[in-house]
Amino acid sequence: MDVLVLNRNFFAIQITTWRRALRLVYMDRASVVDEEYKTYSFGDWCEISRYIKAHPGGFVKTPALRIAIPEVIALKFYDRVPFRDVKFTRRNIYEHYNYKCCYCGKKLPPTQLNLDHVVPRSRGGRTDWKNVVTSCISCNLKKGSFLLEEAGMKLKIKPNRPAVNPCLSLILKSPAKVKSSWQKFIDSVYWNIELEKE
Ligand SMILES: [Zn+2]
Repeated sequence: MDVLVLNRNFFAIQITTWRRALRLVYMDRASVVDEEYKTYSFGDWCEISRYIKAHPGGFVKTPALRIAIPEVIALKFYDRVPFRDVKFTRRNIYEHYNYKCCYCGKKLPPTQLNLDHVVPRSRGGRTDWKNVVTSCISCNLKKGSFLLEEAGMKLKIKPNRPAVNPCLSLILKSPAKVKSSWQKFIDSVYWNIELEKE
């Protein structure tokens, strides 16, 4: 059973197991969140669970208790949105620069783009977000293995490392099935996600 974890501001940040989710609630580090956005402490939730007859998430049973497995919990003390590195792949680099040549700024189909080391590898340039950009073929040829100044070229788009809110992709890529009770929180991530500036 997977549980959606929200931060203190009800921002979806993670998917976890029901065991960890219940442990967090038990330790008072998180509250259970119901479909009406109401929050419950462990004690309240145990009490409520007694009256829940059918529950899609199922129940945990101990000799003394029968606890409904929460579908959504909210952390009490965590209000950040964790950022995670975007993988350094050709596809992500193209996407990051919006399929534009960083030298001339032209937008092109992926087949007409290349990756280019701003400081050439032969001159000690690294292969990372700070030094690799998308380039059209003619800028790529012109640049060759020169430094920018030597080639008399400038970057219209400065190379930078993307900072992307990973929640949405985390949730979409997760093998966990998105539950209907998660949807409204995921939608809020979708609408509140900061779009990358050009
Ligand atoms: Zn170009």
